[in-house]
Amino acid sequence: MKKADIGLIGLAVMGENLVMNMESRGFCVAVYNRSVSRVDQFVGGRAAGKNIIATHSLEELAASVSRPRKIFLMVKAGSPVDETIEKLLPYLEAGDIVIDGGNSHFPDTMRRCAQLEAKGLLYVGMGVSGGEEGALKGPSIMPGGSPAAWEHVKPILQAICARAGDSPCCDWVGENGAGHFVKMVHNGIEYGDMQLICEAYQLLRDLAGLSNDELSAVFTEWNKTELDSYLIEITGSIFQYREANGSHLVDSILDAAGQKGTGKWTGIAALDEGVPLTLIGEAVFARCLSAMKQERTEAAEVFGRNVLPYQGDRTAFIEDVRGALYAAKIISYAQGFALMRAAAGTYGWNLNYGSIALMWRGGCIIRSAFLDRIKQAYDRRGDLANLILDPYFKQALEQYLPAWRRVAAAAVSSGVPAPAMTSALSYFDGYTCERLPANLLQAQRDYFGAHTYERIDRPRGEFFHTNWTGEG
Ligand code: NAP
Repeated sequence: MKKADIGLIGLAVMGENLVMNMESRGFCVAVYNRSVSRVDQFVGGRAAGKNIIATHSLEELAASVSRPRKIFLMVKAGSPVDETIEKLLPYLEAGDIVIDGGNSHFPDTMRRCAQLEAKGLLYVGMGVSGGEEGALKGPSIMPGGSPAAWEHVKPILQAICARAGDSPCCDWVGENGAGHFVKMVHNGIEYGDMQLICEAYQLLRDLAGLSNDELSAVFTEWNKTELDSYLIEITGSIFQYREANGSHLVDSILDAAGQKGTGKWTGIAALDEGVPLTLIGEAVFARCLSAMKQERTEAAEVFGRNVLPYQGDRTAFIEDVRGALYAAKIISYAQGFALMRAAAGTYGWNLNYGSIALMWRGGCIIRSAFLDRIKQAYDRRGDLANLILDPYFKQALEQYLPAWRRVAAAAVSSGVPAPAMTSALSYFDGYTCERLPANLLQAQRDYFGAHTYERIDRPRGEFFHTNWTGEG
C-alpha cells in the first residue's frame, strides 16, 4: 500500500487548508478527524481526486504514514492536544514525530516535548500564522521542539510556507517551546500594531474630523511609506466598504473588541521575565476597556465628554499622526524583541532574531516592509540589546520624535485616548533617561521595609540600610 508523506489530524478550517496546501506541493497526506464524518465530507468534497488518504481511526492513520511518521495536529489548542497525543501514542514508534501546529501555550509545548522525547519520540511545536488564506496559500511557520525533527519536517514546511523574495518564511526557531513562544510574541505584536492603527483612526476621526473616504485615502497613501504593511493596506480598504444601503460598514460595527488570549499570554510572559512590554500590555487592556461597552456608555453620560476639533493645520496633523504611529511601532517591536531576548536567556534558546523577522515578512498578519529593517539591524549586530539602538531606528525615532510628542500632547489635552502611543513615548523617555526617580523609590522601600539600597558612590552589589527615623 502506498504510504503518505505526512498525516494530519484536525480537519477544521486550518487543517483542511494546510492539507490542500501540502497536496498542491506534491505531498501525499493521510487525514483524520475526531468526528470522522468530517473526513468523508472533506475527501468526498473539496479534496476529491487529490493525493489524500482518508482514514477513520488513529490506528489507520498511523498505518498509512511512511516512517519516521510525521503526524501534524491541527486541533483546538489546550486539552484537545493532550487528549489526541494520548490516544495516538500506542500507534507510534521510536523516532516518529508529532507536530502541533495550533496556538498552544509555550509551557504546554515544553511539557509535551519533554514527555514525548522521554518515550523516544520527537516533538515539534510550531506557530502557524496567516489564518485560513495563509494556511492554503503559504503561512508563516515558526517551528521549535526536538532539534532532530527539523531535517525530517523541513522539506515539507519550507515547501508550503510563504516566501519573502527567495527566502522561506519558515526556519528552525529553537528547542522545546521556542516556536510557540515566538508565535505568541508575534500575536502580541499583532495586538500592538492593530491598536496603534485604531488610535490613529480615532485621532484623525475625532480630532481632525476625517470622513471614512478621507481615512481610506490617508491609509492608502500611508501604505506607500515606511508604514507599508498588510494591516495598513486592509485598513484603507475597510474604510471604503459600503453596505447595500450605501452606508459605511465600519460605522455600524460595535466598538467592543474580542480576544482569544495570546496577547494576554504575551503580557504575562513579559511580567514573568521583568521586561517592560508596555505597548502590547496597553493594547490588551484597550481591548478589555472596549469590551466594557455598557459601563462606558453610562460613564460617558455621567461625564459628558466633549472633544474640541483640532485647531491647527489638518494636513500637518495627519502627517504628525503618521510619524507618531511609526515611532510607536518601533517601540512595540523593540519591546517584543527584548522579551524574546530575555526568554532566550531564561530557557536556553539560541534565537536568531534576524531570521525571526524574516519569518514574519510574508504570510502572516504583521507582514510589513518594516521587518526588513529589523532583519538588517540584527545583521549589523546580532547581540543588539534594544532595537532602538540600531542606527536606522535611532535616526527614525529622532526624525519622528517631535511629531510623536505633538500627537501625544494633542491626544492628552483634548481627551482622546491613545494609550499605546502615549505609553510608548513614556517608555522611550524612560529608557533613554539616565537618572530615573527610583532612588526615591528605593529610599521608600528601605524606610518602611528595610529592603536596602545601593549607592551611586559605591560598587553595584553593595547594599545599605538606614534607620530613617532614628528610632531604636
Ligand atoms: P478549531 O476550531 O480551533 O478546532 C477544531 C478542530 O479541533 C476540529 O478538528 C475538532 O474536531 C478538533 N477538536 C476539538 N476538540 C477535540 C478533542 N478533544 N479531541 C480531538 N480533536 C478535537 O480549528 P481551527 O480554527 O482550524 O484551528 C486549529 C488550531 O490552529 C487552533 O489551535 C487554532 O488556535 C490555531 N490557529 C487558527 C487560526 C485561524 O485563523 N483559525 C490561525 C492560526 C492558528 P471535531 O471536528 O471532532 O470537533
